[in-house]
Amino acid sequence: MTSVTLFLLIIFAAATIIIERLLQNRRRRASLMLAPLDERHRAIIAQRIPLYAKVPLYLRERLDGLINRFLDEIKFVGRDGFNVTEEARLVIAAQACLLIMNRPHRWFPTLKSVILYPAAFQSKAKKFDGYVQRDGTPVHTGESWMRGPVVLAWDHAAFGALVDDDGHNVVIHEFAHQLDEATGVSDGAPLLDKDQNAARWGRVFQDAYERLQKDTELNRPSVFNTYGASAPAEFFAVAVETFFEKPQEMRTDEPHIYEELSLYFGFDPAAW
Ligand SMILES: [Zn+2]
Repeated sequence: MTSVTLFLLIIFAAATIIIERLLQNRRRRASLMLAPLDERHRAIIAQRIPLYAKVPLYLRERLDGLINRFLDEIKFVGRDGFNVTEEARLVIAAQACLLIMNRPHRWFPTLKSVILYPAAFQSKAKKFDGYVQRDGTPVHTGESWMRGPVVLAWDHAAFGALVDDDGHNVVIHEFAHQLDEATGVSDGAPLLDKDQNAARWGRVFQDAYERLQKDTELNRPSVFNTYGASAPAEFFAVAVETFFEKPQEMRTDEPHIYEELSLYFGFDPAAW
């Protein structure tokens, strides 16, 4: 056997192993997506996330499959002594998957892990969502890293899941950033589908963003949290929180944004 033949044989064997692994992963993923949710898992999710029960049945099957896949593929890491329980994994996975249950590719393409702190935390991230403590220290309740993890304060994540009609949900907020950041730029303009008009999306979002800035400046009420007035990327994340938590109010007050988000996510939560 010549050295060239040996080289080609090694390449062929390596390629065969890689292809077999890819096929195995694909088969595993397909079976997880079709499998029903474990009944114990379903009970925990229903108890901790009231929104789950409102999801129509035809979407719930997809949501359950995605939760199975999320639990299988996304690594959870606890920080500051936080013990990542099964309950914590389920509460994060189920809320994150609400955002992609009817999207064309149904996944967060660059996400590999979720990092959980027990409560609001300090970190070196320049871009974060959080608040300033009484002593002047800024603390984070959530971060979404471009091509990196989502970082969350568990107490805020759990409370946000339980109270589903106040427009605040740090998990939905950070995973909305993940969708936006998948384009490589965090600007409130995620990758749209073929049937969506990017120019219209840009116009509708820019108008509503400027309106919120004006409302905030003049202290006028808005369906959106004023935090959305800080940057276009924050406005998108806040609009997504509002879409899930105050859909009827949003449809009445901001019908154009509501329509764009309905098209983007592929469902109409105001009708649930
Ligand atoms: Zn944010």
